[in-house]
Formats: sequence, C-alpha cells, structure tokens
Amino acid sequence: MRIAIIGAGIVGSLIARELTRYDADVLLFEKEADIGWGVTKANSAIVHGGFHEAPGTDRASFCVKGNSLYEKISRELDVPFGLIGAYVVALANDEVPALRHLYKQGMQNGVPGLEMHNRETVLAHEPNLNPSVVGGLWSPSVGITEPWSLAIAAVENAAANGLDLHVDEEVISIDAKDGRVKRIITQRGEYEVDGVVNAAGLFADRIAEMVGISEPILFPRRGEYLLLDKKVGPLISSVIFPTPNEMSKGTLVVPTIDGGILLGPTAEDLDAEEKEATETTHDGLREAIAGARLLVPELDLSLVVKTFAGLRPETADRKFVVGRTAISGFFQAAGMRSPGLTAAPAVARFLACDIMAPDLNLVKRESFDPMRRGIRKVLDLPSKERDTLIEVDPRYGRLICQCNHVTEGEIVEAIHRGARTLDGVKFRTRAGFGRCQGGFCTDKILIILARELDVSPNDVTLRGKESKMLSGKVRS
Ligand SMILES: Cc1cc2nc3c(=O)[nH]c(=O)nc-3n(C[C@H](O)[C@H](O)[C@H](O)COP(=O)(O)OP(=O)(O)OC[C@H]3O[C@@H](n4cnc5c(N)ncnc54)[C@H](O)[C@@H]3O)c2cc1C
Repeated sequence: MRIAIIGAGIVGSLIARELTRYDADVLLFEKEADIGWGVTKANSAIVHGGFHEAPGTDRASFCVKGNSLYEKISRELDVPFGLIGAYVVALANDEVPALRHLYKQGMQNGVPGLEMHNRETVLAHEPNLNPSVVGGLWSPSVGITEPWSLAIAAVENAAANGLDLHVDEEVISIDAKDGRVKRIITQRGEYEVDGVVNAAGLFADRIAEMVGISEPILFPRRGEYLLLDKKVGPLISSVIFPTPNEMSKGTLVVPTIDGGILLGPTAEDLDAEEKEATETTHDGLREAIAGARLLVPELDLSLVVKTFAGLRPETADRKFVVGRTAISGFFQAAGMRSPGLTAAPAVARFLACDIMAPDLNLVKRESFDPMRRGIRKVLDLPSKERDTLIEVDPRYGRLICQCNHVTEGEIVEAIHRGARTLDGVKFRTRAGFGRCQGGFCTDKILIILARELDVSPNDVTLRGKESKMLSGKVRS
C-alpha cells in the first residue's frame, strides 16, 4: 500500500505523521525546498478557541477539537505552545452585542471557560489596552504556537516512523483513469500509488483539477503584518482581538511564542492567479498599524523588525473541503483558511484514521513512536549541562546569532536534520530571526552550510531554486 501526500504545510505534515501509524509506504511531496514554506509560514500563529466559527460547521468542530489536541501534540513533538488566552474587546457600547453573539456561539461550539468581562476586569488583566474599552470576551483556551516548527517536527517524527520525504519535487500530474488514482507524476519521476492526499494549500484547486475535480475553487486573501522585536517586553499577556467584521477576525495584537508582538493581519481579496503575491503594501501596513493602535495605543513602532504578508486560501462559501472524493483513492484536505492551523491536528486525525484507514484497509503498526526531540537550545540548558556539552563539542560554545543566541552546534544540528538553505536554518533555529534580521550572522551561517553540505558557498541559497546569495569568486 503506497500513499502520496501533496504539500508539506501544517496540514500535509500532520496527515503524514498520522498515516505513519499504519502499515503503509507514505510519501510526502513538497514543491519548495523545505517544509512549511506555504501558507503555514505567514499567519497569526494563534490556536483559536472556536468561538468565531458558526455552530454546526466543520470549521467549528475541527477548530475546537484541534485546539484540544494542541497541548499533547506540542509535548510529543517538543514544539513550544503557549496557552495564554485571548480577549475580544469592545471599544464602544454598540460592539457589545457582537461579543455576546461570539459568547453564545462559543458555548454552542463547546469552547471551554468563556467569560464576559467588564471594563475594569479587562483593564486589570491587560492594563495597556485602549482605556476606552467597554468590555471583553475572555477565552482561556486560546494559545499561540510556531506553525512551521510544528510542521517540521511532525515531518521529523513521521520520518523516524518511516515517511519518505521528497522536498523540491513538484507534483505535475496525477493519473486517475477509470475513476481511481494510479500514479503521480512529478518533475523528477513517476510513482505508482494507491492513495493520494491533496494538502496543497493555495494550490489545492490545481491538484484537484488534475483528476477532474472542480472543488475547491480558491482565491487568495492577503493579510499583512508587522513584527515587533522581543525588546517590546510584556506589553500584553494574551491575544487581543477587536470585535470582528464581515471579512475577518480583524486586526489583532498577538504575542509571539518567542516574546515579540505581531500586528495584523489585514484582509484584501486578490485575483485567483495571485497565489504568490506575498509582498507588503504601504496602505496595508498603515491599516495594520492603525487597527493595532486602536487596541493597544502605546505600541513602539521603532521596534518593528520585519513586515510580511500571508495569503489565506479562501473558498466562496468559507468551507473546508476535507474527505473522500468521487475519485477512488483521492482525498482532500483543502480550502484550509483560518482556523486551519488550529484545525490541522483534528483534520489530520479525521482524514487518516476515520476516512483513509477504512477506505484503504490500513492496519495499525505497533512500532509507531509519537515522540520527537527538538534541537537543544544551548543557552536554555542548566549551566552544568551546557558546560559538558561544550566540552564534548566546542561548536555548542560558538555563538553565531547574537540576537537569538544560536550556536554553531545548533546550526549544524539543523543542517543534519534537513536544512539545506539559509531559511531552512532560520526556521529551525531562529538564527537570523532577531533584531538584526541576519545582518551579522548570514555570512557565518552560509559558510557553515557550505561546509556541512560540502558545496561551494556560491551554491548556497536563501530558499532554494534560484535564490543564490553570492556571485563571483569567494575567498576562503
Ligand atoms: C494571514 C493569515 C492568518 C492566519 N491566521 C491563522 C491563525 O492565527 N490560526 C489558525 O488556525 N489559522 C490561521 N490561518 C490559516 C492557516 O495558516 C492555514 O489554514 C494553514 O497554514 C494551511 O496550511 P496548509 O498545509 O493547508 O497549506 P500550506 O502551508 O500552504 O501547505 C501546502 C503546501 O503544498 C505545497 N504545494 C502546492 N502545490 C504543490 C505541488 N504541485 N507539488 C508539491 N507541493 C505542492 C506548497 O508549496 C505548500 O508548502 C491564517 C492564514 C493566513 C494567510
């Protein structure tokens, strides 16, 4: 039994992990040079509570179930997770009915611990909020994660359980004659398969078209962000939502897992073909700043270290497209707009265990090991342990990224775990993610990559394909 998953975002990666619980050859294909570089890379990283979703929808049930799985899955995969709670705030009395509506919706969806708070209670929890706040909906089950780290960790764990990972390998067609999937064709080769999972994010419509299926129809909705450096300190302690609008949950102020603060996202519909339009715009960033300042007026914009944009894979009816299809052996986990990150663990479990396992007669393997260890953060180790580590391997004593305190030892470990590019190292170690945004460490990491991969520094790329960093002769 051979199953191919298309797309190593959070959804495909978690599905791959679930499928390695069974006795099957599982292959994961990703067109980019690494895991989690699609929609999974650029979003608000919130593990939503589920009160924003309409009761009775798949989105609501997958969101609430996914939320409840996050703590365990993060522990198993050794990925940071912060259960910090969230406030949805009303800044005027006429917004309070909308908060009551969210409360009611949340109760119907089974969201635990929801409470309506008055102005005083909200400000006692979050003293830096706009003083004109009139009340808030408190949701203690909302958390924050690091989406790409979870995807990488899921793939590492799946690989330890037998997954065959193919990065930099785009699926270009699928042979599905006589109503059944038979082969997938990539730009590198052909693979006989019994099952295919379409988890291709923004490109899931193109994969569905390959087998003649017209759902989902996707269009990108861009969200722009600004990231404040961790120097910002404890300005807020929970996720702050405004009262939502028709189009989105609004512009938020979100603590990040490593101590920074994220402002955004905006919501701008793009044409269906604009699936790579992740550039930021002057207007979008101004809108994000204005929205965030309405919630937390004292945001210090001199601490902005990065701006970026993500694209939501939207469907006209806002539904997830999860399950079997008219083509035997072809399954979809598509249209994964927000709260797709939250829903992903539940979607993966549902699709792999409840749909695919019975359809494909999959048998559980006794030997599946759910545990994975992350890269050790040397500076977080107790000093005795750190000293011993450095004594055994002095590379753990050489600091390469000054901002995020990442050592050469950690970078080498990231490369040995699969990083092939500067972004690959960055997303695994946070080297280059700090205040200087790689200004002081990029050259050093590039040299380490060249050495460990045994290639010329000229061949090291930022993020694969043609993104080479150097041209001309490099002195050693
Ligand atoms: C602005 C914004 C904010 C959001 N905020 C949140 C939030 O706070 N909480 C939340 O729960 N959700 C949030 N979401 C939604 C969440 O980010 C997505 O639901 C989730 O990341 C989707 O993951 P995915 O794996 O489906 O897609 P992706 O991460 O895009 O993965 C699909 C992968 O498929 C690959 N691929 C495509 N075509 C092919 C091919 N032909 N061959 C091989 N590989 C291919 C792509 O390169 C990509 O890596 C947000 C989204 C956006 C854009």
